[in-house]
Amino acid sequence: MAVLVQKYGGTSVGSIERIKKVAKRIIKSKKEGYQVVVVVSAMSGVTDRLTSLAHKISKEPHIREMDMLLSTGEQVSISLLAMALDSMGHKAVSMTGSQVGIQTDSVYTNARIQSIETSKLKSELKKGNIIIVAGFQGIDENNNVTTLGRGGSDTSAVALAAALKAKYCEIYTDVDGVYTADPNKVKAARKLNEICYEEMLELASLGAKVLHSRSVEIAMNFNVVLHIRSSLNNKKGTLVIKESKAMEKIVINGVTSKTDEARVNIAGVPDKPGIAADIFNDLAGKNINVDMIVQSTSPDGKTNSISFTVKKKDLTKVKGIMQELKKRNHAGSFSINQKIGIVSIVGVGMKSHAGIAGKMFDVLAKSKINIEMISTSEIKISVVIEETKVIKAMNIIHKAFDLN
Ligand code: ASP
Ligand code: MG
Repeated sequence: MAVLVQKYGGTSVGSIERIKKVAKRIIKSKKEGYQVVVVVSAMSGVTDRLTSLAHKISKEPHIREMDMLLSTGEQVSISLLAMALDSMGHKAVSMTGSQVGIQTDSVYTNARIQSIETSKLKSELKKGNIIIVAGFQGIDENNNVTTLGRGGSDTSAVALAAALKAKYCEIYTDVDGVYTADPNKVKAARKLNEICYEEMLELASLGAKVLHSRSVEIAMNFNVVLHIRSSLNNKKGTLVIKESKAMEKIVINGVTSKTDEARVNIAGVPDKPGIAADIFNDLAGKNINVDMIVQSTSPDGKTNSISFTVKKKDLTKVKGIMQELKKRNHAGSFSINQKIGIVSIVGVGMKSHAGIAGKMFDVLAKSKINIEMISTSEIKISVVIEETKVIKAMNIIHKAFDLN
């Protein structure tokens, strides 16, 4: 019997009514002949509420305790869903991450899955049970509860699908699938029928909030077919699959933006080997993720200036590190600009089409939007622009690349 993994996000299990609806959908899949493993998030709003409780107790809550707290949200939804299935006459068993054996490292609030024990799951499936697993959580080697970072239930689901060699991993959410752009920002956005892992990975890390990016990495590495679809209707959603020849014909598949980052500029960085390594190792040592990096040389040729973007929430830590670097003469001065946005275009077709960057810059120039930083990969181009111009930029780019 084929295994099907389904993941339901917070809004899909946001009320008793919705939980009952989800139960019915699960029963339908079971009746189609699948062994069903379900991963659920906390009911919508719960994780935020727990987080704010913690911040009422302490400015910087201990992260081990934070994970202990946050993991309870999912425990509520798994048990309620199992009860709903049971009351409809279907055998179901709920399991926490630790009961399953979802082993992670010990990076609290942002742990990574290292392995998944499948024996218990398999024996429950053999007994005919539907298994409901708490998403977003695991356990480290010392039995501490860990969580996988906000939105991490997607990652739990895909990792389980990979471990159980599931036929599909269905991700149920409150939108119909993956769009060419966020419909709240670009009215003309369209739903995509399919997209490849690489594109999805870029979109996820570029601010499209459909999937936790780690989940896409796992899907890509283990070839898990993802189907992102709505739990509110029966429409086909977006399939996330391996790249195909046909996909390369379409140059751009999506436009995204994010405004949760700030740009840090360091001037007067001595131009000698090891300094950049030092700066970015210091940031990494404090678990600060750096996104774009641009280095330019000053006219005197003795110092560089380095600009990079980081999440605004990390700025306090970043400032501390910058002060330290100044003391060690690794930096002359630094400045921070929080009023920026990053707009990106993504498409595997870029690999085989020339002139995409030029076209994007042209469109922005025509609307008098200044580009402050640029970064590219084989399949994406990102630009930093003024925050207030992000929506406009997205719309004109969306149109220029025929995505409307
Ligand atoms: N409940 C967690 C969150 O709100 C995990 C998830 O929903 O994926 O971030
Ligand atoms: Mg989510």
